[in-house]
Amino acid sequence: MNFGFNEEQELLRSTARKFFDNECASETVRKLMDGPEGMTPDLWKKIAEQGWTGLIFPDEHGGMGLGFVDLVVLMEEMGRSVVPGPFFSTVLLGGLAIREAGTDAQKKAWLPKISSGDARATLAWMEPSAELGAGGITLQAAAKGAGFTLDGTKLFVHDAHTADVIVVAARTSSGQNPPAGGQNPPAGGQNPEDGVSLFLVPKGTPGLSVTLLPTMDQTRKLCEVGLKDVALGADALMGQAGSGWAPLARVIDRATVALCAEMCGGAQKVLEMTVEYAKIRQAFGRPIGSYQGVKHKAADMLVDVENSKSITYYAAWAMDEGVPEGQLAVSMAKAYVSDAYRRVSGAGIQLHGGIGFTWEHDLHLYFKRAKGSEFTFGDATWHRERVAQLVNL
Ligand SMILES: Cc1cc2nc3c(=O)[nH]c(=O)nc-3n(C[C@H](O)[C@H](O)[C@H](O)COP(=O)(O)OP(=O)(O)OC[C@H]3O[C@@H](n4cnc5c(N)ncnc54)[C@H](O)[C@@H]3O)c2cc1C
Repeated sequence: MNFGFNEEQELLRSTARKFFDNECASETVRKLMDGPEGMTPDLWKKIAEQGWTGLIFPDEHGGMGLGFVDLVVLMEEMGRSVVPGPFFSTVLLGGLAIREAGTDAQKKAWLPKISSGDARATLAWMEPSAELGAGGITLQAAAKGAGFTLDGTKLFVHDAHTADVIVVAARTSSGQNPPAGGQNPPAGGQNPEDGVSLFLVPKGTPGLSVTLLPTMDQTRKLCEVGLKDVALGADALMGQAGSGWAPLARVIDRATVALCAEMCGGAQKVLEMTVEYAKIRQAFGRPIGSYQGVKHKAADMLVDVENSKSITYYAAWAMDEGVPEGQLAVSMAKAYVSDAYRRVSGAGIQLHGGIGFTWEHDLHLYFKRAKGSEFTFGDATWHRERVAQLVNL
């Protein structure tokens, strides 16, 4: 059994490390996070030229046709540099939703443009209730003629303000059909997973409004998306009406794994910065790293980082292989990594003492990314509950 990355994956890692060290050092991150877009056209073009915006899309749509284990390598490197901008939303949310749920015509229309960096996409899934399951999708899509009219509000939508197309999850029926696979319907008789439909809503569609929200992690832009009597043709529907939850759940699981990988990269960088600092910072005539209290905390950080990586790599492998325990692997990873990255970035600040608390030091970028990521796609508590359900507790 080989637990290591192969030669191509190691090459991807070293290329990405050099690229982001050169193109997205912390001065650049700070400039980008101050602007509303979180990205410059020049940096976006360079990222696309590396082929990374097409990494997980098929060759026939201009992508590289690689898997989630490959993607994990790139995401770790992006997390290491706290890269701002719409890569995550375009590739892991909007693009992946089109890959998983789009018709052939929709894939042909959007995936080549996403792969080449000419289009940006996102996914509007959550609503003001902040409920993560299918029951949280209440935005109405009413059939009108051959098409649909969408009405409602979506929240916490990544980079909607710069997206060329938004995949919107809406409800076309209240969920009358029982769950697939002969399972019993949930309590109350209705099945919220039935009746969820996905729609492509291009930028500029009448009735579509986007408002940028203030976020603690300024490197990640979140929006509120309003849809008021948004009229869409039948060609906006992705796949079968009412059957959008299954592909949406696949997208959310895969995006969660990618987020865990990004968190692993950030945690690894915080550990390295902290160990380096503990070797040079002197207190009472000795490096602080020579004191037991500092050593133990650093050792705990290392354990957190290594466990995070192992559980994330397993989840990525499970996504690529389509094994039955895939959902369990995703939730185990998110439950662990959510807590671990917060602990590691918090400990990094503590071990740096006062300097770690300053705006000038980069640690707050990591701590805020850790806090934002902790709640994205469900926090540790939510995923532990899902783990319990998946093992029939
Ligand atoms: C919000 C804030 C406001 C502040 N305001 C003021 C102010 O108004 N006036 C002022 O003078 N200062 C101020 N400070 C500075 C503050 O007094 C120092 O940050 C604090 O005393 C810690 O010192 P240090 O930053 O040099 O950390 P260090 O002493 O370098 O400590 C770094 C790390 O090493 C550990 N460590 C150090 N020595 C040992 C040891 N012997 N054994 C085990 N572990 C050790 C520490 O616990 C810490 O985790 C402020 C700091 C902050 C964060």
